[in-house]
Amino acid sequence: STFESMDLFAPIKRALAEEKYETPTPIQAQTIPAAIEGQDILGCAQTGTGKTAAFALPILDFLGHEKPPLSSKHATALVLAPTRELAIQIGESFKVYGKHMRFRSALVYGGVGQAQQVKAMRTGVDVLIATPGRLLDLMQQGHISLANVEILVLDEADRMLDMGFMPALKKIIAELPKERQSLFFSATLPPKIRELSQELLFNPISVNV
Ligand code: AMP
Repeated sequence: STFESMDLFAPIKRALAEEKYETPTPIQAQTIPAAIEGQDILGCAQTGTGKTAAFALPILDFLGHEKPPLSSKHATALVLAPTRELAIQIGESFKVYGKHMRFRSALVYGGVGQAQQVKAMRTGVDVLIATPGRLLDLMQQGHISLANVEILVLDEADRMLDMGFMPALKKIIAELPKERQSLFFSATLPPKIRELSQELLFNPISVNV
């Protein structure tokens, strides 16, 4: 199969063709069609397998089909990642795959001042990419609401656990609308991560690459 033959929003296909992406990687082939249909995903995948596009493309496809107005003050998609570096990389991938679309992404991570991040949120955001600690901080200060989130992504969930983010993750998840799609990615599935996935996911498609 090819990206061209997938039921993806045309501007995304155009960007992929320009990036010389022709064939989906195994994780992409197994998750993207189901994710576009709105199904939850449990993906067991390492970095380098193409997992970023496996969640970014369905989110962009969703945004492409959304009725206006886009870019409200509250994000439609939330992507949680363990580190600032990974969050930045994910943000760059969204920009590449979504270069022919109108949408806004915002980054929220610790270790830097929060003023810029808060300001960026105020001008409107569709995709919020965040590390759990800073996100929870900004939520507790009233700067961010998750009330409009329709798609949640947990990327590298096992690393978030290792880094001590489980309590923050639980608090963040408690603030999300119950009716949503969740895409869960982890390189390994230790018991605590399996439990979290069971709390989060409804009838997920499980993919192991
Ligand atoms: P990731 O595992 O998401 O970090 O992606 C690993 C690398 O593979 C990145 O540099 C992507 O740009 C690239 N990539 C992901 N999917 C594809 C694909 N279907 N065809 C070609 N390159 C890809």
